[in-house]
Amino acid sequence: MQGGLGITDYIIWNEAAMVRKLLTKDRLLRLKISQDNWCIICGSQPETVEHLFFECKFSAACLQMLLKLVQKGTIKNDVKGVWHRSIRAVKGKKCRALITAMTAVLIYIIWWARNEALWNQRAPSPGVICAQVQQECKIRVVIFYTGNVAGMRGSG
Ligand SMILES: [Zn+2]
Repeated sequence: MQGGLGITDYIIWNEAAMVRKLLTKDRLLRLKISQDNWCIICGSQPETVEHLFFECKFSAACLQMLLKLVQKGTIKNDVKGVWHRSIRAVKGKKCRALITAMTAVLIYIIWWARNEALWNQRAPSPGVICAQVQQECKIRVVIFYTGNVAGMRGSG
């Protein structure tokens, strides 16, 4: 059953599968690998997948900041204007695809931030997170519109 699935769907699906397998501290505690299950970033709630990516005040701040950037259209468009065009075109299906892709990227970056906090005792600020997400999204928007990453590489 081939068909509707494009590369973007594949990336999102792949990341959803990855997220389900992530060893959050609630799992580490159950496996008796961790001594506690507190969120490494805010320290006020147990670290579950739901908490880390959607409920933690840190993640919420990152998402709020990103959504503001999208609404204001201030996300930079230096990849041949692709991002800018896609923002202008965000209506209905495309909008949903874009926001979904952005959320997948955000989840990936938050996991990175969480590991920074775990191993280096410092979490990047929401501003740094947003910059990272924007960088990743540029790549993905190109994939979304061209079906490959060739558009990212300078011609030479
Ligand atoms: Zn938290």
